[in-house]
Amino acid sequence: MTGRWRLAADVWRAGRADPRALAERRRVRLDALVAHARRHSRFYAERYASLGPGPVPLERLPVVTKAELMARFDDWVTDPEVTRRGVAEFAADPEHVGREYLGRYLVLTTSGTTGIPALFLQDRPALDVLEALTLVRVAPGMLAPRTVVAVLRGGGRAAAVWATGRPYGGASLLRRQIHRRPSRAKRLRLFSALDPVEELVAGLTAFRPAMLSGYATVLAVLAREQREGRLDIHPALVNNGGETLTPDTRRLIESAFGARVSDGYGASEMIMIAYDCGHGSKHVHADWAILEPVDADLRPVAPGERSTTVLLTVLANRVQPVIRYDLGDAVVLRPDPCPCGSRLPAIDVVGRTNDVLHFAAPDGRDVAMAPLPLVTLVEAVPGVRSVQLVQTTPTAVEVRLDTLPGHDRTQVGDDASARLHAHLTRHGLAAVEVTPAEGHPERDPRSGKLRQVLVGHR
Ligand SMILES: [Zn+2]
Repeated sequence: MTGRWRLAADVWRAGRADPRALAERRRVRLDALVAHARRHSRFYAERYASLGPGPVPLERLPVVTKAELMARFDDWVTDPEVTRRGVAEFAADPEHVGREYLGRYLVLTTSGTTGIPALFLQDRPALDVLEALTLVRVAPGMLAPRTVVAVLRGGGRAAAVWATGRPYGGASLLRRQIHRRPSRAKRLRLFSALDPVEELVAGLTAFRPAMLSGYATVLAVLAREQREGRLDIHPALVNNGGETLTPDTRRLIESAFGARVSDGYGASEMIMIAYDCGHGSKHVHADWAILEPVDADLRPVAPGERSTTVLLTVLANRVQPVIRYDLGDAVVLRPDPCPCGSRLPAIDVVGRTNDVLHFAAPDGRDVAMAPLPLVTLVEAVPGVRSVQLVQTTPTAVEVRLDTLPGHDRTQVGDDASARLHAHLTRHGLAAVEVTPAEGHPERDPRSGKLRQVLVGHR
């Protein structure tokens, strides 16, 4: 049996294992990860120095944050050839999306809600685990026999609408699949979430996808196009990623396309943390991830209660150990067994929602735009550290920015506004006024999170 099949068989068994057998897998993998981190990561060696030698129970390990890991990137990584500067340079070239840094690491960047730009590496073992989880757990959950038949009848064509130009998760994974087997390019098509809706509609209509993936808000915009008759495609399966899918949006997509809707939960830190079983729950891949729902004081939260954040431990990735990492999402752990029969813990994710923006076109039309692509567009402007877009009227947007050291704030603000305005112009919204704001991005006073898009006039 090859390593790949052994891994798939283990994922299959773990999904049916009793909680004790599952916990044992986690413990063995955690001990190995912690030992590796102590030996090869200067950051963790320091943080864990006072813990004494030998295995340490999870709850005694200190919590880490994105800000401190990114600040000490070169001390954090376990491969001495990897540097923050090297990764950043690699990631800046759009040709590198889906290619491997140093020939062995997939690079992902985040459009994060924490306001800290981040670079993440997935090593080969982590990508092998991702593949096994997809094959054994995610695909069978998504693909009921009827759906499989419909997908095959549609030529197996899969369209994905993601932010492009930088290595965001969705685009990177799709590009990687095509790089690995170029013949797939006929069946897999990446569309830019930055393209005007009319172009997306035309492209998707011509491609006739049997599967469609994208951010919840992009899918919502496309569902309206379909409902109003401008888009006419018939995907059997629609996948959400990157944003929280609200029940309303799910219903809108289901009814517009008559499709099965599947909702994943992942992050650049771990591409698939939980999967949609089709019975209303997302099950954590608890053999390869440890997810701890906690309150504001980092104390465990009981099942059924909403957490303030979650601590993530990724058991597969060695190059950037993610151990008790404050991910920032609020979740609710399902207290009762899921009707699908899976014994993997089930969660509801309650964070990560953005509003669809509605602009008034000169002819009185309402133009709906998904928020995340606009954010990625501004984030890609040199000098931008974090961004918050505030729609103040149906024809005005303010751009709040934090800039990186060594960049002129006024210049960066002008560049960002000009880029956003050019983009709106492509959508027939040249009359929308885009202005750089004096103020900086403001965090939600309750959650401390940065909502990247705010609609201030409703
Ligand atoms: Zn379930």
